[in-house]
Amino acid sequence: MRDPNTLNRRGFVKLGVAFAVTAPLAGQAALASDLPHLSEDDPTAKALGYKHDTATVDQAKFPNHKPEQNCANCKLVQGEASGDWIRCQLFPGKMVNTNGWCAGWVKQA
Ligand code: SF4
Repeated sequence: MRDPNTLNRRGFVKLGVAFAVTAPLAGQAALASDLPHLSEDDPTAKALGYKHDTATVDQAKFPNHKPEQNCANCKLVQGEASGDWIRCQLFPGKMVNTNGWCAGWVKQA
């Protein structure tokens, strides 16, 4: 008959090994650079007037837009940029262009 304490220790060791192997992989999977870029044709992006280049925003449609506003200086960005792309709270799982803009732009404090 097996000693339950021995099984627990073995299970614990196995779990530890599994965690040691998979934790770094999970971290890599979450790297921002792996995320797809937001498409301007995404329905939410369209609704918010998102453009990869703030200079191309439809000023007539979004009169509050200012040329100096972009994703890089928006309060809703998250983490560090990966090249020209960065994560945004409004578009989880996607990356927006640091020079982009949408109607959700919020001034950084
Ligand atoms: Fe860019 Fe801010 Fe709009 Fe996100 S909320 S897409 S960071 S302007």
